[in-house]
Amino acid sequence: MRKITIIGAGQAGLQLGIGLLDHGYRVTVVTDRTGAQIREGRIMSSQCMFGTALAHERTLGLNLWDRDCPPVEGISFVVPDGTGGTAISWASRLDAAARSVDQRVKMPVWLEEFERRGGTTELRAADVADLERYARESDLVIVAAGKGEIAQLFERDAERSTFDRPQRALALTYLTGMTPRDEYSAVSFNLMPGVGEYFTFPALTTTGPCDIMVFEGVPGGPLDCWAGIGSPEEHLALSLEILRTHLPWEAERCGDVALTDPNGVLAGRFPPTVRKPVGQLPSGALVLGLADVVVLNDPITGQGSNNASKCAASYLAAILEHGERPFDRAFLRGTFERYWDYAQYVSGWTNAMLGAPPAHVLKLLDAASSAPRIAHRFANGFDDPRDFFHWFMDPSAAETYLADAAA
Ligand SMILES: Cc1cc2nc3c(=O)[nH]c(=O)nc-3n(C[C@H](O)[C@H](O)[C@H](O)COP(=O)(O)OP(=O)(O)OC[C@H]3O[C@@H](n4cnc5c(N)ncnc54)[C@H](O)[C@@H]3O)c2cc1C
Repeated sequence: MRKITIIGAGQAGLQLGIGLLDHGYRVTVVTDRTGAQIREGRIMSSQCMFGTALAHERTLGLNLWDRDCPPVEGISFVVPDGTGGTAISWASRLDAAARSVDQRVKMPVWLEEFERRGGTTELRAADVADLERYARESDLVIVAAGKGEIAQLFERDAERSTFDRPQRALALTYLTGMTPRDEYSAVSFNLMPGVGEYFTFPALTTTGPCDIMVFEGVPGGPLDCWAGIGSPEEHLALSLEILRTHLPWEAERCGDVALTDPNGVLAGRFPPTVRKPVGQLPSGALVLGLADVVVLNDPITGQGSNNASKCAASYLAAILEHGERPFDRAFLRGTFERYWDYAQYVSGWTNAMLGAPPAHVLKLLDAASSAPRIAHRFANGFDDPRDFFHWFMDPSAAETYLADAAA
């Protein structure tokens, strides 16, 4: 029976680990935190996941919160006009509901599920010496440590990385008491050119249903304002102040909100980075990077957990197809390239969203206000951005698409 060791008990590591167990592999997951520590710790993400990524979880019987987690039924999109109104505004339903289950809820349960299905967990913050030992003991070592320091083992891919510094000051606020949208629940996405983005949607956290606020501030701009914020109460007060100043229609929904818990706030920043997928240890042994370790995107498009699920599913298929053959460099590289065939579109779109929106993109977004078909394509493209990538990224393809849509 082949043995695989996975470093990191997050979306990608646990999903892949459980998938491998179900196919008869011996799997060890190395985690730097116990389930209880994760559950009692700070929020890590807003983790909104769309249909395809959720389907991968369902295939493995890991969709354990479908009843308790409020569905996200659509996407709404607003560009403010700078005078308290909106320049662009539309909403469209998702074909398949999205869901956000707080990773503090999900990962401890998945860790238990992993052990229940026969997996072994080891509690440690794995370093290079540990990786050497795992490489000797295992047929394959996969590093799924997210933004953990061990990811530095994988060389940054300068050609595939668009940026070398953070593009947004990020903040999250988990709340109860937000007034729901009329009609249907949605990711309410607000784009403020030159300032940043704000989006909010319902989720499930450790205390029950909640809403998550995500702030994306252009560095040096008015939403890059989280330094020096000490207490969770100050964080909440600043979140509300931003809405009152920039997005009054969103502030109106927050007349009676409270933090879900003192750990329901987060602020930080990181450079979006693509890394080379094969890491070489001092002994010469090779290890493979998974999900955020190798393709780390800014959360502006809410794709990271989706990518983690899709990367885990893609690697699982590659490993199963490979059978008993050795996990050599060609296999490791090929396995990543197969995922990159998809992920490059997510990175390309996400990185484009971090720049000032070009005229053709504003025109497309504006056209969606009066053309439900276009709004529907945009909304459902969050599940698979390849659908709109070509006309989103290219001014002449955008014109052709708009002409076709109008005809
Ligand atoms: C502010 C913010 C908002 C986001 N919102 C969304 C969203 O709405 N939708 C979406 O799809 N994505 C979102 N993301 C991204 C998403 O959370 C990540 O892309 C996803 O969690 C990546 O999964 P992963 O398994 O690769 O890594 P992680 O989830 O980071 O898991 C890695 C695990 O490895 C552990 N670890 C690290 N180092 C070691 C070590 N040396 N030894 C052992 N264990 C180790 C970590 O503690 C962690 O448990 C958001 C991210 C941020 C920061």
